[in-house]
Amino acid sequence: MSDAVRRLGLVLGDQLSFDLSLFDALDPARDAVLMAEVSEEACYVPHHPQKIVLVFSAMRHFAQALETRGWRVIYVRLDAPDNSGSLAGELRRWHAALGGPALHLSECGEWRVEEALRTGGLSLNWHVDRRFLCSREEFARWAGNRRQLRMELFYREMRRRSGLLLEPDGGPLGGSWNFDADNRKALPKGARGPFPARFRQDVITREVVALVGERFASHYGRLEGFDYPVTHAEAQELWQHFLEFSLPSFGDYQDAMAEGEPYLFHARISAALNIGLLDLRQLCADVESAHRQGQVPLNAAEGFIRQLIGWREYVHGIYWLRMPDYAALNVFGNRRALPELYWSGRTEMRCMAQAISQTLELGYAHHIQRLMVTGNFALLAGIAPSAICEWYLAVYLDAFEWVELPNTLGMVMHADGGYLGSKPYCASGRYIQRMSDHCGACRYRVDRATEDDACPFNSLYWHFLMRHRDHLGRNPRLAMAYRNLQRMDESRVAALWQRGEQLLARLDAGEAL
Ligand code: FAD
Ligand code: SF4
Repeated sequence: MSDAVRRLGLVLGDQLSFDLSLFDALDPARDAVLMAEVSEEACYVPHHPQKIVLVFSAMRHFAQALETRGWRVIYVRLDAPDNSGSLAGELRRWHAALGGPALHLSECGEWRVEEALRTGGLSLNWHVDRRFLCSREEFARWAGNRRQLRMELFYREMRRRSGLLLEPDGGPLGGSWNFDADNRKALPKGARGPFPARFRQDVITREVVALVGERFASHYGRLEGFDYPVTHAEAQELWQHFLEFSLPSFGDYQDAMAEGEPYLFHARISAALNIGLLDLRQLCADVESAHRQGQVPLNAAEGFIRQLIGWREYVHGIYWLRMPDYAALNVFGNRRALPELYWSGRTEMRCMAQAISQTLELGYAHHIQRLMVTGNFALLAGIAPSAICEWYLAVYLDAFEWVELPNTLGMVMHADGGYLGSKPYCASGRYIQRMSDHCGACRYRVDRATEDDACPFNSLYWHFLMRHRDHLGRNPRLAMAYRNLQRMDESRVAALWQRGEQLLARLDAGEAL
């Protein structure tokens, strides 16, 4: 086949879109597409086994779909005997084998991958990743020379630019850009989310499951029970299920958590969206039209669209603006190792045990579990940002560094000193009590802070504020917390500090809490 190929386009495992800009530069009659499963990508962090299944199975399905559409696809399986193990290696190998065709690629999701390809000794033609509303260059122009960025301002810009949820005069639909204040309801007692959409494993997926079981048995997380969409058609089914059954309540209960309810009213679409099985513009248009047809309240529609064209585009922009230096930021100088309980789920802290065990089982936790439970604990306990970032990158099916890193390092750990967000999302156990039913089932008491059975979040919250007073004491958004600390009598402050020290020492000694 070699001499006939004029151009070779490399399609990565998170670029499985038919309208990738790369395809504009290729001609199915004369060019070829290269797709490769490589161990370097499967192993650079210990990915959840279901995440590897998702990516490889979706890649195999996508390759078949491209062939059906007339494309010539060179597909390298993980267990192919001459697989070089890296993307740059495969690109070099096929470039030579095909007689040196021109090489075409879309911008990569991760800086690490793009750097390896750019420095791999081949001449490459790059194409913008137009799956995002805001390109890297447009974001850099918006950011200009600002020392701090704010998502809310960026989001308004994206609303204006996309025309989503606007009045005819260009103002925000309903008179406000943001209905977040309506989106913090606790779940009524006994309420449950809808039955989740599940997808049966076909022959291709079963083959990949067997391969992953053989090759990646040492990775954390359960392999059995994989039920995610792996084709565009399945991803659409998942999306329609969300529109019908969950979106109407998405806004109200966006921040709620409940025992045994991993998904509640969340869409569970992030993995499919991030690898290219769903299209951002279609999702937003569907949500807007569901609202305009009276099927969905405005707080739900606006809340959902804000996550997509606000937060998701914002973190993507920050990642590409600030990498590679961003990954090394650590303004609090945290050095604590990640406690083993993050990998095992074994802890008597009920909220943590729930969030971590469902993560190991499903490769999924919703935003508030990631931010206010596992993230909050890592922040308060002073875990090294690189260690907690690696955990988030490994355990979630939707985790790709461009979206994981700013969320973890910036939003959760505040390790960028407030570049991404104006304050750390630190909270005591009271927040978790208000937004969940976990505390009633916990061995710790959320109404206590210094006793042996006191909720660890409580003393660690005050300990965090005390140890970072120099850095955070003048932050207006933490003024109330510092005023409360100021008002406490000395013995209370000393007891909180001591209990915090004790808990941190137990973590350092390898205890699970
Ligand atoms: P829903 O709650 O239904 O939200 C809808 C969509 O909005 C999501 O699918 C996602 O595409 C988007 N979205 C919502 N919040 C964010 C956000 N903060 N940043 C970017 N997109 C957002 N999301 C990832 O896709 N990959 C990650 O690796 C990832 N790591 C995270 C790490 C931490 C510490 C935190 C706090 C958040 C992280 N998020 C990540 C964002 C968010 O938690 C997930 O997108 C969401 O939980 C996915 O589930 P869902 O599809 O049910 O989302
Ligand atoms: Fe979590 Fe504390 Fe509530 Fe236990 S008491 S579930 S540790 S917030």
